[in-house]
Amino acid sequence: MRPYNFSAGPSTMPEPVLRRIRDEFLDWQGTGCSILEASHRSPRVVALVKELEARVRSLLGVPDTHAVLFCQGGARLQFAMVPMNLLGAGTVASYIVTGTWSKSAETEAMRFARIQSAFSGNGTRTPSDEEIDVTAESSYLYYCDNETVHGVEFAGIPDSGAAGVPLVADMSSNFMSRPVDVSKFGLLYAAAQKNFGPAGLTVVVVRRDLLGLASPEVPTLLNYAVYEKTGNMPNTPAVFQLYCSNLMAAWIESEGGLAEMDARARERSRIVYEALDAHPEVYSQRVDRASRSRMNVVFHLVEDALTPIFLKEAHDVGLLNLAGHRTVGGLRASLYNAMPVSGALALAEFLHARARNQRLEQGDLPPNIAELFDQFVERKD
Ligand code: PMP
Repeated sequence: MRPYNFSAGPSTMPEPVLRRIRDEFLDWQGTGCSILEASHRSPRVVALVKELEARVRSLLGVPDTHAVLFCQGGARLQFAMVPMNLLGAGTVASYIVTGTWSKSAETEAMRFARIQSAFSGNGTRTPSDEEIDVTAESSYLYYCDNETVHGVEFAGIPDSGAAGVPLVADMSSNFMSRPVDVSKFGLLYAAAQKNFGPAGLTVVVVRRDLLGLASPEVPTLLNYAVYEKTGNMPNTPAVFQLYCSNLMAAWIESEGGLAEMDARARERSRIVYEALDAHPEVYSQRVDRASRSRMNVVFHLVEDALTPIFLKEAHDVGLLNLAGHRTVGGLRASLYNAMPVSGALALAEFLHARARNQRLEQGDLPPNIAELFDQFVERKD
C-alpha cells in the first residue's frame, strides 16, 4: 500500500498516472522508443503538445482571446518574465502581498519596475476588494491566488476596481483545482509540480493583446510572444514533463473536471480543518477562516517543541512530509488534486488520536486505496 504524501511540491501524483507512465516507459505509442528518447520535432510529440494545449483550454475554459504557453524555469522565472513582458511602455507595477511567494515576486519585479504596493499583508489573510489600492498608471496588478507557505488562498478573483489594469495571478499551488473565469485575467501562470504533474513545466495563459509588449532587449526565450509564434517550440521543450502533464490533464478530465476537483478539495480541507479546530489546546492556526487554503493546511502544535515527535509518529503510520516550510516552521498538510479523500480522513484520525495521546498503528488508518483506472484514458497504441 502506498503511503499518503502531503508534500507541498513536487507532490503526490495519481496512481493511475504513475502506472501508465511505468507501463509505456520503454515503448511509447508502439514506437519501440521511450518518450525520453522521442524527438520534440516528431509528429507524435508535436501532436502531444497540441493535445495538452487543447486539454488545458477545455478544462480551464480558456477563450480564444488568450494563448496557452508552456515555459520552463519554474514559477520563479515568471517573477521576472511577467514584468519583462507586461510593463510595455509603463514603469509601474502593482503588487498584492499575502505571503512568501507574492513577496518574492514583488522583490524580483523591483529590478524592472517601480512597485506600487496594492496591499501588504502578513501571511494570515487575503485583502477585501476595498483594501486593494491600484494606481491607474500601473501596467498590471499581480497577486498569488494561493500562498503555499502560509496557507492563504483567495476565495474568489479580487476586483480592485481598476478596470484598465490587467490582472496577473500566480496559481502555482491551486491550478486546476477549481473552475476559473480566465477572461478576467491578463495573465495567469502555474508551475506544474503541485496539481498538474512533475516539476519542469510552467503553464502560462496570457491575453493575446498583451503579447509583443516586451522591449527588444528581452532575451528571446524570456519573451512570451516567441512561445506563441513557435507553437511552444522555441527550443527543445521538456518533452517528458509535457507528456506527464498531458496524462494528468486526462486524469482530471476522466475524474469529472475542475468542478469535481474543487468539490474534493473542499471536502479534504474541511475534514482536516475540522479535526484541528476540535483541539485548540493542541493545534494552533494563524490564518483567518475566510482565507484558509483548500490546498495547504498550515498549523502549529501549541507545544512547538513536540513537532519532531509528531512528524516521526505520522511518518511511522504512513503520513509523510507534514513539516511546515523551513521559513515558518510548524506543520503543513498539502492536499492537492491527487490526494484521495481517504488521505484527509487518515490525517484527521491521526490528529484526533494525537490530541488524545493515543498511539496508532499503521492499520488503524484508512488505507490509500486510490482507485485504479489503468485504462483511464484510451491508449493510442
Ligand atoms: N509560487 C508559488 C505559489 C509556489 O508555491 C512556488 C513553489 N512552491 C513558487 C512560486 C516557486 O516555484 P518554483 O520552485 O517552480 O520556481
